[in-house]
Amino acid sequence: MYLIEIYKSIQGESSFAGLPCIFVRLAGCNLRCAWCDSEYTFTGGYKLSEDQVVAEIEKLTPVRLIEFTGGEPMLQERELIPLMERLLRDGYQLMIETSGERPLERVPQAVHKIVDVKCPASGENGSFRNSNLETLTRGDEVKFVIANRGDYEFARDFMREHRLETRAGQVLLSPAFAKTASAVRGTENCLLDPRELVEWMLADGLPARLSLQIHKYVWEPQKKGV
Ligand code: SF4
Repeated sequence: MYLIEIYKSIQGESSFAGLPCIFVRLAGCNLRCAWCDSEYTFTGGYKLSEDQVVAEIEKLTPVRLIEFTGGEPMLQERELIPLMERLLRDGYQLMIETSGERPLERVPQAVHKIVDVKCPASGENGSFRNSNLETLTRGDEVKFVIANRGDYEFARDFMREHRLETRAGQVLLSPAFAKTASAVRGTENCLLDPRELVEWMLADGLPARLSLQIHKYVWEPQKKGV
């Protein structure tokens, strides 16, 4: 499989936020979200066998939580699924962060899926594969990255239409971060002020969770490999 990096850090998002985690970042993505902070994954990458990936992970233990991310990790499904099955057998706790565009049926149920639904301001609205809703369990989370009021209303209406809070364990609303973020570790780098998003959530009584990318406050927003 083609990788960009394997490293350990603090999980920045989801209900696992704040936990030590090993990140396996795979190369390639078939979407082009307007606010993407991972464009360096679109090309290149280095090739590793399954054994080599496992060996790299073992160097980073005793951390036992692993996230597969990208890019879009499900583009390398043929190699990724057997690797996941092996790591589950080895007793690791696994997560995958995915755009929601690729089919997720083959992801083992024990893997916690963090599934994006792309909102209009991303430029990739409509890429979500509705059949992926049937794969969700209470161990999974659905995430909307919100850049403006239009994105919020899209997320709210999608949640209500599909009763997302009954399908997934968490629904996450995450303010979009500016691609040209400054070195300052503050909310001024958000395209939407988190306070405004919270006010909308409270006004609508939305059963969703505010999700801040905490690694962008612990370290400088542009820093890679953290
Ligand atoms: S799906 Fe993820 S990696 Fe791909 S363009 Fe969108 S934000 Fe970037």
